[in-house]
Amino acid sequence: MKLEELDFQGKNVLIRVDFNVPIKEGKVTDRNRIIAAVPTIKKVIEKGGRVILMSHLGRPKGQKNTDFSLSQIKEVVSEELGCSVNFMDDCIGNRIKDAINSTAQDSVTLLENLRFYAEEEKGDREFAKKLADLADVYINDAFGTAHRAHASTAVIADFFDAEHRAFGYLIQNELNAVEKLLSSPERPFTAIMGGAKISDKILLIENILDKVDHLIIGGGMSYTFFKAQGGEIGNSLVEEDKLDLALNLLKKAKEKGVEIHLPVDSIISSEFSNDADSDVADNMNIKEGWMGLDIGPKAVENFSKAVASSKTILWNGPMGVFEMSNFENGTKSVAEAIAKATENGAFSLIGGGDSAAAIRQFNYEDKVSYISTGGGALLEYLEGKELPGIVAIQS
Ligand code: AMP
Repeated sequence: MKLEELDFQGKNVLIRVDFNVPIKEGKVTDRNRIIAAVPTIKKVIEKGGRVILMSHLGRPKGQKNTDFSLSQIKEVVSEELGCSVNFMDDCIGNRIKDAINSTAQDSVTLLENLRFYAEEEKGDREFAKKLADLADVYINDAFGTAHRAHASTAVIADFFDAEHRAFGYLIQNELNAVEKLLSSPERPFTAIMGGAKISDKILLIENILDKVDHLIIGGGMSYTFFKAQGGEIGNSLVEEDKLDLALNLLKKAKEKGVEIHLPVDSIISSEFSNDADSDVADNMNIKEGWMGLDIGPKAVENFSKAVASSKTILWNGPMGVFEMSNFENGTKSVAEAIAKATENGAFSLIGGGDSAAAIRQFNYEDKVSYISTGGGALLEYLEGKELPGIVAIQS
């Protein structure tokens, strides 16, 4: 059932959120994930439910460790919700259950880090049952962990029937966005792939070749394609064991009628450093000892043209080392081209992780259609895999 259709009145509602936020010296340094969970939480409160929030934070490896305590984010959650939040120093057991049940019906409770128990990541059924015992209704709104078959993300759903479990808005929005992209995309459909390695994205590229009209490949992964075609790539990133695979992908793309756009040129550098000498080079002829750290001006022009003519766009992975100002231009230009195409009516989905960070860094976050909150989860979903956290609610 949909969130709107569930009855929350007078019920305890356990919401799995992704509050795995960066923390420095006890302070939350990026609260986007908390902000993203607010609509679901507010809806449950509005419909009379007592909200219980559960999440993981970092990798405490099944041990209690105050460095990973969710108590550190309590204030930020409270600020974003505009109400007080009760923090519980555990996430299961009768003591916690009684404490929750003695709080006001319209109050919000935040449980301690689920990963203080090794059972969480193991998907332990007993542990999932103990979590389920706290509530009448279960909502999963943690897209970032939907590809994991953990106790709180998948196994727990078994203890609630279809009238007592649902996705939160965040997951629902992610599913809608991917659905829009994969089921009946307006054409031309362009996928832009970047980042360091092809090996991380092979499955995605293979799956997406059946769907797209254009595939743009930039970033460190592009040099393996040039080397495979006999190019001199100097010290640029390369995966020697993926040369055949790169040629194979080019062949498959041709067979499927997908137009591949590789960057014809690069901004090259004598060292992996923002301060080293830089130059522009053709990607088949990079000087010995030099490395490509960003796409070059001709590539920017070609890629921007392909993006401008697109009606559906998927972007995953930066075009260069965008963390260094001298090598950010390619990534920034692609972000700008996507923003312009979106303004002209295209639907654009930005894959999580580095592309999302880049879109924010260059201030285009309000100018694209959807920024995914899931890195690995989105990749697996786009690869065509079933995500345990999604299946558990739907089945
Ligand atoms: P990924 O996690 O595979 O999406 O890769 C993202 C990382 O790839 C970013 O940190 C970029 O700095 C890095 N990257 C992108 N292009 C290059 C390049 N040409 N050489 C080295 N690193 C790159």
